[in-house]
Amino acid sequence: MVAEKKYLQPKTIDEAISFAKAHENDFYFLAGGTDALVNKYQGNKEASCMIDISRIKELKSVEVFENEIHIGALITLDGLKQHQVLREKFPALLLAAQEVASPILRKSATIGGNVLCENRCSFYNQSEWWREAVGYCLKCEGDVCIATGGTKACFSKFVSDTAPVIISLNGRIELHDFDGVKTVPLESIYTGDGIHPRNIASTTLLSKIILPLDKEYKVKFKKLRPREAVDFTSLTTAVARSNDGNIRLVIGGVDPMPVVIDGNADSLKEDLVKKALAKSRVVDNDIYSRKYRREMMRLFLEESLNALLD
Ligand SMILES: Cc1cc2nc3c(=O)[nH]c(=O)nc-3n(C[C@H](O)[C@H](O)[C@H](O)COP(=O)(O)OP(=O)(O)OC[C@H]3O[C@@H](n4cnc5c(N)ncnc54)[C@H](O)[C@@H]3O)c2cc1C
Repeated sequence: MVAEKKYLQPKTIDEAISFAKAHENDFYFLAGGTDALVNKYQGNKEASCMIDISRIKELKSVEVFENEIHIGALITLDGLKQHQVLREKFPALLLAAQEVASPILRKSATIGGNVLCENRCSFYNQSEWWREAVGYCLKCEGDVCIATGGTKACFSKFVSDTAPVIISLNGRIELHDFDGVKTVPLESIYTGDGIHPRNIASTTLLSKIILPLDKEYKVKFKKLRPREAVDFTSLTTAVARSNDGNIRLVIGGVDPMPVVIDGNADSLKEDLVKKALAKSRVVDNDIYSRKYRREMMRLFLEESLNALLD
């Protein structure tokens, strides 16, 4: 395990990015640290520099505009509920945040860190000696994926619980880097490759999550996990219906990226569920079997669509 030699605490976004540029390829950003530090102690995240962004005030506000709301990346999962517009307009986001980890973790864990948390797999999220004993998997120096019995592709699963809700609401994110600022749909940063699950540069800082206020959404959120607290997801579903008739199904925990299916007022429920099942590359890398998670996915999606459309 590499010990950090440098710990930096920028006060502005620009300073964070200049620190990142100076340590390119050998650093990571730290927000609440509830994912990054666990991965570090398991030997899965090594770098000689840590850039702690938790002092950047620009990332801590929630701003309401005429047609959208901007949620600073450092707003904690617990802190989301303090904002009236979020409580009134996006109860499913608050519910998803509330289903992450445990009450104490949610006081440190940020929304930005949640949408960027690392993919997981039962053959990867283990101690160093455990991983060594099984010969390491593809995501950590091994030659093949153990979960699939030897393929050359990694199927570590996407586990953020808030991202499916944000994507179902057509949420976007603002990204800063030394070459400028851009806003992209959240789903566009996920690659589907379990080894490199996101396509943003290591020096890119996520500053805010943007949700639309010009439409009304009804969202059903569901999560499957062995215990009601602490456990990561085995399956997360968010199904949204907007007042213009559009339907969006987003599924987490069953593929290296969030699975997104779009429909409209004319779509048949059975077709939407069928498409979601066909698109999800579920493998046996979870405490629950692949078969069980697929069955539960069908059930969650059917229940959510029935509640939203009938
Ligand atoms: C016991 C336990 C249970 C958990 N259960 C769940 C769960 O049920 N569901 C779930 O979704 N998560 C779970 N987590 C993971 C984690 O707590 C959350 O995902 C949390 O929201 C991560 O936020 P953070 O601020 O702590 O991120 P950090 O750990 O600080 O960062 C996570 C990653 O994002 C990067 N990062 C963070 N912020 C930014 C930014 N603004 N710009 C660029 N990069 C950034 C970091 O470099 C790192 O790679 C669990 C963790 C633990 C320890």
